[in-house]
Amino acid sequence: MSTPPLASGPHGPDALRPLLDTVLHALHAGTAARGGPLPAGGPDAVTARVRDAAGDVLPDTGDPDALRTLVTALTEGAADPAHPLCAAHLHGPPLAVATAADLAASVLNPSLDSWDQAPAASALETLVTHALARETGAADALVTTGGTESNQLALLLAREAAGGTLRLVHGANAHHSLPRAAWLLGLPAPVVVPAPTGTLDPAALDEALDQVPGPHLVAATAGTTDAGLIDPLPEIADRCAAHGARLHIDAAYGAGLLFSDRHRPKLTGLDAAHTVALDLHKLGWQPIAAGLLTVKNPDDLTALDQRADYLNAHDDTEAGLPDLLGRSPRTSRRPDILKIAVTLKTLGRDGLGALVDRVCDLAQQFADLVTGHPGFELHAPPTISTVLFRPTDATDHTVATIRRTLLTTGRAALGRARADGRLWLKATLLNPRTRPDDLADLLHLVEGNTPR
Ligand SMILES: *Cc1c(COP(=O)(O)O)cnc(C)c1O
Repeated sequence: MSTPPLASGPHGPDALRPLLDTVLHALHAGTAARGGPLPAGGPDAVTARVRDAAGDVLPDTGDPDALRTLVTALTEGAADPAHPLCAAHLHGPPLAVATAADLAASVLNPSLDSWDQAPAASALETLVTHALARETGAADALVTTGGTESNQLALLLAREAAGGTLRLVHGANAHHSLPRAAWLLGLPAPVVVPAPTGTLDPAALDEALDQVPGPHLVAATAGTTDAGLIDPLPEIADRCAAHGARLHIDAAYGAGLLFSDRHRPKLTGLDAAHTVALDLHKLGWQPIAAGLLTVKNPDDLTALDQRADYLNAHDDTEAGLPDLLGRSPRTSRRPDILKIAVTLKTLGRDGLGALVDRVCDLAQQFADLVTGHPGFELHAPPTISTVLFRPTDATDHTVATIRRTLLTTGRAALGRARADGRLWLKATLLNPRTRPDDLADLLHLVEGNTPR
């Protein structure tokens, strides 16, 4: 076999063109073969089809058809967030323009651990992270792999600012990555503040801050994963200020509301946080990964300073080469900023805001359908784009079974969430191209799969 072509360089685009054609055809064929939001048949059937398609995964002699075969198989077996009945998770359909930009990122393969691997990408990252930081009232922002890494970094920066240890205080509604980050960083077990209505209770927070010795990092949530609820940020910020506690806001889901004039007021208080987690692969329509951690005090970032002679020698830095190693705990790092920058500039604030408004409207429309149907119960009016609902008088077992039946038949992907001591079906509406008819179909499908 001759040396396979490379993606970049003078011949890169010519080598890529026919391969892209293969990929696009395979995406078409796989989507048609699936015919719905998910593959039918459940895990065993999907695994069998993938095993058949993959064959010998490391054959002695290569297979030139592997790109077509494997992309087709992956597409056929995908949970496709662009299908209107795929609404289980904060798993959004990426915009075509962002995905095209991500192709260029893969082709050029800049690595953001040193300037000599990413001259323009690092300059673009500086511009865009600063602009996004300003949106949350912060001074700077780091690019992360998502809310999980952002939360962990927020804890790390807080721990270092506090002199080596601190106590995490979070709501019972917080994302699991927060207590996990405390565990990873060797911090004491977090204090969990009750969230009886689904949001952190400021009075209970006050009590916890009084009782448990500090220093504290309070983590609030703007957009809970289960219900899209936003903690009372201004009250929490006041309590933190009164107790000298540091505040992190996990806005992995909710931060996208900043793009919408209509919904931005829901995030009032966000600018009081020392750090904010944002996930643009949720309400931002980016391919994974597109996370950010904004940081109010840039001095906090010195905790990440790191020296490695081959990447940021003192004399290189003194001679003016930007030092990038302290911008992440990772070393090699993809230019996720390119797709973000392309999206922000292509759509503008108006375009992104319209997408946010659209999915929030869809959630309201779905909630109205649920309310208007005697066979269903709505948990609460949606705050962002998540709707919790269940068949009236169903048991938790029935709710869980409906969800699994829809998943394994490949008809619809809904999530599940526990609230008020009961299990609910969760529709997370992130697809701006979903139509009102699709929402009616979704409810109809659930109705048809509810045993009576
Ligand atoms: C999704 C989510 C996370 C985790 O983000 P990843 O991008 O999956 O790492 C953290 N917090 C909240 C509130 C989330 O919704």
